[in-house]
Amino acid sequence: MNIQPHTTVKILGINFQTTIQETTKSTWHPLTQVLRQQTREVYRRDLTLTQRIQYAQTYLLAKTWYIAQFFTPSTDIVRQNNTIITNFIWQGNIFRVPLSTLREPKHAGGLDLIDPLAKSRAMCLLRIQEQISKQDTTINELLKLCKITIPSQNPPRKHAIMNKHAYLQYAHYDSAYLAPRSPREPTITYKKRIYSTIKMTLYDRYAVAPMRVIRTWPRINWTLIWNNIWQAPIPLRFKSTWYEIVHDIKTTKQRLHAINLAPTDNCVHCSQTDTLQHRLTQCGDATTQWLWTRGKIAQILRTNPSNVSPDWLQRPCIQYWPRQKHNAVLWILASFVTFRTEREHTPNMQNYFDFLRRNRWKTYRQGTRPQLLGNYLEVLDPL
Ligand SMILES: [Zn+2]
Repeated sequence: MNIQPHTTVKILGINFQTTIQETTKSTWHPLTQVLRQQTREVYRRDLTLTQRIQYAQTYLLAKTWYIAQFFTPSTDIVRQNNTIITNFIWQGNIFRVPLSTLREPKHAGGLDLIDPLAKSRAMCLLRIQEQISKQDTTINELLKLCKITIPSQNPPRKHAIMNKHAYLQYAHYDSAYLAPRSPREPTITYKKRIYSTIKMTLYDRYAVAPMRVIRTWPRINWTLIWNNIWQAPIPLRFKSTWYEIVHDIKTTKQRLHAINLAPTDNCVHCSQTDTLQHRLTQCGDATTQWLWTRGKIAQILRTNPSNVSPDWLQRPCIQYWPRQKHNAVLWILASFVTFRTEREHTPNMQNYFDFLRRNRWKTYRQGTRPQLLGNYLEVLDPL
């Protein structure tokens, strides 16, 4: 028999090497390359921020989950993948929302972006727990050999013998902080709980500075603002734009000038300071458009137009009853913000009316108008 000895073998996509560290490295490395290549291919597609997040979660990261349940990536790989995902999501935007914020839930100002490291460790732990529950598995023998138990004691002690088995070490560490599963807990809830527990132990919430917008306007109800954006009966595209406006990450001359990337902070159309508020309500036709919109909102709320603040466009910290009235105000605000932000040329009143008419028609077509908006949007007539 003339069989050559090999130190590596590839089985089901995993490049097995002599040690676990090497196996992890050689399996993750090509995956990172694939990820980079894939982001390049879709880079030119015209997607909104939320669509890019969806794409990253559903298509880009999907390839990594199979490997992630066996081998937790090293910090180096995690860093590389984070850079690839961040570059894809922001596509050269100068002002961005940090990755830590994007990973927050939507009601807390994030976009529910999955944290690959926490998810990988959660999947590994779940897999190990499933194997432990069976008799005579290798993992049980290995645990006996290493003299450890899973779930481990809290706080978990470090065992030198586990240095070779990184996945066991993680499982040993993570299981210490996980409350035991009750027989009634459904698998999906349990999986989510493992993920959120691990995410919490990985990052120190209190060491992260509050979001920029919250630091600037600390005294308002931000949860209400985020909920208003995501619960408003508007297309996802509007939500995405509004989210960026609220985070104040649009490139304005004022922000560019503040970091010395623009010689002045003047608007290109007029000589006033180019802020977000200026673009939305003060520049050119924006003044007339905002006055008209403000009047319509005041009509819904049965109040004086001067009580409708232009701040609501950037910080919709409002709540009205009944829900249909509240939703109608949010619908108009979001439409106005999207209209003013998406168009680079100077759009006139007629363009604005066309835009509103088209979008109201689309909203009405969904058939949930009586519950969501009632007849409140009729104030916009005659469109
Ligand atoms: Zn201007």
